[in-house]
Amino acid sequence: MPTRWTPDSWRNRPAAQQPNYPDKDKLASVESDLSRYPPLVFGGEVKALKRQLGRVADGRAFLLQGGDCAESFAEFHPDTIRDTFRVLLQMAVILTFGAACPVVKVGRMAGQFGKPRSSDMERQGDQELPSYRGDNVNGIQFDAAARMPDPDRLMRAYNQSAATLNLLRAYASGGYADLHRVHRWNLDFVANSPAAERFQDLADRIGESLAFMRACGVGDDAAHELKGTDFFTSHECLLLGFEEAMTRHEPSGGGWVDSSAHMLWCGDRTRQLDGAHLEFLKGIENPIAVKVGPSMQPDELLRVVDLLNPFDEPGRLTLICRFGADKVEQHLPNLIRAVKRDGRRVVWSCDPMHGNTVKSSVGLKTRGFDQLMREVRQFFAIHRAEGTYPGGIHLELTGQNVTECTGGAMAITEDKLSSRYHTHCDPRLNADQSLEMAFQIAELLKE
Ligand code: PEP
Ligand code: MN
Repeated sequence: MPTRWTPDSWRNRPAAQQPNYPDKDKLASVESDLSRYPPLVFGGEVKALKRQLGRVADGRAFLLQGGDCAESFAEFHPDTIRDTFRVLLQMAVILTFGAACPVVKVGRMAGQFGKPRSSDMERQGDQELPSYRGDNVNGIQFDAAARMPDPDRLMRAYNQSAATLNLLRAYASGGYADLHRVHRWNLDFVANSPAAERFQDLADRIGESLAFMRACGVGDDAAHELKGTDFFTSHECLLLGFEEAMTRHEPSGGGWVDSSAHMLWCGDRTRQLDGAHLEFLKGIENPIAVKVGPSMQPDELLRVVDLLNPFDEPGRLTLICRFGADKVEQHLPNLIRAVKRDGRRVVWSCDPMHGNTVKSSVGLKTRGFDQLMREVRQFFAIHRAEGTYPGGIHLELTGQNVTECTGGAMAITEDKLSSRYHTHCDPRLNADQSLEMAFQIAELLKE
């Protein structure tokens, strides 16, 4: 007999990837404080995102999800937030034109701190310390004090998320997101790109469409939607005590909403069918996603879909595929066929980042732009062959001019990686590489 779901029912299941806090009383006290703090997002917004993702599931919209691998306390700055938001807006305009449908914009922002790790401990020389698990858990410096999990970091992450979200809300509605202005930024990018010739035509066609709309009087009204945008937040649902504390009951039978972000996803390392993470996620009303990697079997995926979306609600569940360019062909078709045979409505999104991480010759983790595009191309081609809809893209990116992924038109080489390598976890696309990817995906969508 299954027990009834409650925000804490995950506590009866094995929970992978949780920090080992030395002071459990302090943790309980911080979680109790957080449970009385204001929600970061509201039920109405969460439901609006679910509706928009429902359109993606039906092939009538496209999902763009992106941001840092891990937000950090050190990189917390209004310019960083602005620049990542700006690059996502620029990509969205390009993709809207390519897909000829609305683009649903979701940031890996305002709460994307916690990181799953392949090992609990990290060894350097003859010293062994707990692994870094994200700034909301411990510090990245390799010393014993920094690596000790500290519950106060959850509070600091909550406050940083609230301030980030506040700025994002202002940018989304305060005139910054004006479509004509975003297009002008894209023209600047194209003018300065070594790949200008390739992207100029598409940029010109977007410009003509905007000029035509303007000539028709579309957008003249100051309150028009071309002057602002919907923008949503997401992060990996990893630290379950924190997520439980942020979960609130909606008035008038609206169910339980995890108010820490609009959308939450389950990582590839924590998606065990009888585990705590899926137990938690199944009971919240938010749109949710599951990372799907090479170890996922078709019958297992169907059980995950059944557990998380038993009533086949459109927009409820996104499957974020992250196989690697060399493995996608081997795994994705069988998973698509199983979901299709079962008649289930999901959003299929492509994360080309996490299956394509390599160690560079200079010892830094990196990802090659061409390898990422190879996975994206195959993702689109496989969906076309199966008659299903490639509904979205999930990227690790930043608006900063970092050198973390190799390749792109600026041709970042391995020996250049260390010049501006700032990530707290995985290598991100920089602004130029992100826009190039958007142009190339727009070309694919137009095919
Ligand atoms: C991530 O998205 O940063 C991540 C850890 O992904 P995955 O669970 O797919 O490895
Ligand atoms: Mn990552």
